[in-house]
Amino acid sequence: MTLKSPKAFVVGWPIDHSRSPLIHRYWLKTYHIKGEYKKKAIAPDKFAKAFLKLRDKGYCGGNITIPHKVRVMDLVDETDVMARKIGAVNTIHFSGDKVIGTNTDGYGFLTNLQNCAPHWICRNSHAVVLGAGGAARAVVAILLARDAQKIIVCNRTVEKAMDLQKHFGSRIEVQHWEKRNEILAGTDLLVNTTSLGMIGKPRLEMDINSLPAKAVVADLVYSPLETRLLHAARKNGHTIADGLGMLLHQAVPGFEIWFGKRPEVTDELRKLVVEDLENRT
Ligand code: NAP
Repeated sequence: MTLKSPKAFVVGWPIDHSRSPLIHRYWLKTYHIKGEYKKKAIAPDKFAKAFLKLRDKGYCGGNITIPHKVRVMDLVDETDVMARKIGAVNTIHFSGDKVIGTNTDGYGFLTNLQNCAPHWICRNSHAVVLGAGGAARAVVAILLARDAQKIIVCNRTVEKAMDLQKHFGSRIEVQHWEKRNEILAGTDLLVNTTSLGMIGKPRLEMDINSLPAKAVVADLVYSPLETRLLHAARKNGHTIADGLGMLLHQAVPGFEIWFGKRPEVTDELRKLVVEDLENRT
């Protein structure tokens, strides 16, 4: 049952950078829903207590962001398969006495990818994933769930890539970071899940000339919107999928749970967030 005037939150530390309020408030306005979506800055040492109090304050649920996505797993009563596979929760709702957690990052990534590259088929595909952090886990989990055949995980800290292999099994191959330009032959999908290439971070040094022409290239970084990787890929004729598309699509399931309406990712919403990114970076 949807409350008359539901309230949802996004909790993180820090939280000022979050674009979630902009997205959810746009949808609330668009669909004339009398609801609220608020930012909550909660430090890690206060998180457990403060998180559970949010229900008493009348919230029906919300988004969990860095650095609480893994910690919150211990505080929820139920998680779905995706959250358990990824090992992190980014969306929760309060249901009676229970706190239910899910992770919509993989959904957001795949939905955006399919919108940008409708010809791309996940089943039996070969992917190269750069990075082995939280975002990589979401990407790997959804690709495996949709029957990708092989995923090469290439990370600076090779032990973290090996942890992923242990967790996700034999369809994962591990490669050393230094080999990233040499493993692209036969790849259907290249995904950057590292923070490299983001404004304020080092460049992602990558030569994609041996990537097959049919390969799709995705970058989870959305600031800048067109990263150097995506720019090079577009110039080489590859279909590309940017990080903003993932950010917008991952917000859809949460809005539907809290506010009872499945929202649309429109050009107008995208434009709004692009303008905000340009003004705030
Ligand atoms: P994370 O858990 O901290 O992982 C960061 C990853 O980047 C690790 O694999 C790390 O390698 C790698 N890395 C960092 N600095 C590096 C360097 N100098 N050289 C090589 N590799 C380096 O972060 P995350 O949560 O996975 O997020 C990663 C990126 O995805 C961020 O930019 C985030 O904003 C973005 N993201 C976007 C969306 C979206 O909706 N578009 C969603 C989630 C995340 P090591 O293991 O060696 O440290």
